Amino acid sequence: MKKYKKLLFLLVVFVLTYWWTHRWNYIVIHHSAGGYGNIEFLQKVHRERQSKDPLDAIPYHYIVGNGNGLGVGVVKSDWREVWNIWGMHVSRHNFDRNFRGLGICIIGNFEKRNISKKQYQAVVTLTKELMKKYSIPVTNISGHGYTKGEQTKCPGKHFPMEKFLRDIAG
Ligand SMILES: [Zn+2]
Repeated sequence: MKKYKKLLFLLVVFVLTYWWTHRWNYIVIHHSAGGYGNIEFLQKVHRERQSKDPLDAIPYHYIVGNGNGLGVGVVKSDWREVWNIWGMHVSRHNFDRNFRGLGICIIGNFEKRNISKKQYQAVVTLTKELMKKYSIPVTNISGHGYTKGEQTKCPGKHFPMEKFLRDIAG
């Protein structure tokens, strides 16, 4: 009887762990709105702007560099991604897109300028990899400000959202 309980406990832990690490169902695209960025810099910004967040991690799961602070198209993540922790990248109106949504932050301000081909391609590649890994449909991928309930210009008017949705679907 004791042995049976131990096995049951292990099974529950296994199922919960599996669910936790496979629960991702959305991807939200952001820009950093600044010309410079890397994990350390965004962490500093996060401490200043989201000081109530108990987690000392950037609000996103991945960042994609623009050559200023981090190489062009270089993808980095921190421990929020490593431990599959929920994001802090959309408002409370979209709880599920934080809890089960991966946040990708593209370094740059695409309200002011265009994204370079190399950086754009890196975002497409990363998004497609994540879609495949977690079986996320293209309909569950959105730009931050294109998401219902969000009021922001992020990821900027120059980010080619329609083209992006076509490119990741192909
Ligand atoms: Zn955003």
